[in-house]
Amino acid sequence: MRALYIGRFQPYHLGHHAVIEEIASEADEVIICIGSAQRSHELENPFTAGERYLMISKSLRDDGVFNFYIVPILDVNWNAVWVSHVQSLIPPVDVVLTNNPLIGRLFDEKGYEVRAPSLFNRKEYAGTEIRRRMLNHEQWADLVPKAVVEVVKEIDGIRRMENLSRSDT
Ligand code: ATP
Ligand code: MG
Repeated sequence: MRALYIGRFQPYHLGHHAVIEEIASEADEVIICIGSAQRSHELENPFTAGERYLMISKSLRDDGVFNFYIVPILDVNWNAVWVSHVQSLIPPVDVVLTNNPLIGRLFDEKGYEVRAPSLFNRKEYAGTEIRRRMLNHEQWADLVPKAVVEVVKEIDGIRRMENLSRSDT
């Protein structure tokens, strides 16, 4: 059984990690799509697809998970054709795991089995909350896998976000 999991992973956090570890233990392979792959250097989307790729792959390998493929997916801004767009870039999958109602609906309409994984500590394990903490120099490192802390440090990610929050006036 091949399973599909989609996110923007801005950044990859322990909620995503718990879900993917669980899927990987049940499925033969997990296809992880990095959505809005073209977006980066924005406060809502600070990290590039390549940086997010590193965050995900290092975190999973650190925990002994190897049965995954990561596929970056560019936005097409056209919901009715989005599933075909994803299909054209990934191996065939049997099941789609998502908590996002729109993504679930779009795959359901194309005949896929869609399942909603359970949420882990959604109040803190949430991209929006982690980005807010990063920008305000609050504690965020305990909300992400260790490898993500290392990648953010390596790319000077916090300083990037500070720069993004400034204006030229
Ligand atoms: P943002 O706040 O930027 O939207 P996010 O935490 O929702 O970030 P996404 O990349 O948008 O992360 O989500 C990818 C998938 O992970 C979605 O299906 C989302 O519902 C799910 N998800 C997000 N947080 C958790 C969590 N704490 N536990 C389980 N699944 C989660
Ligand atoms: Mg989200």
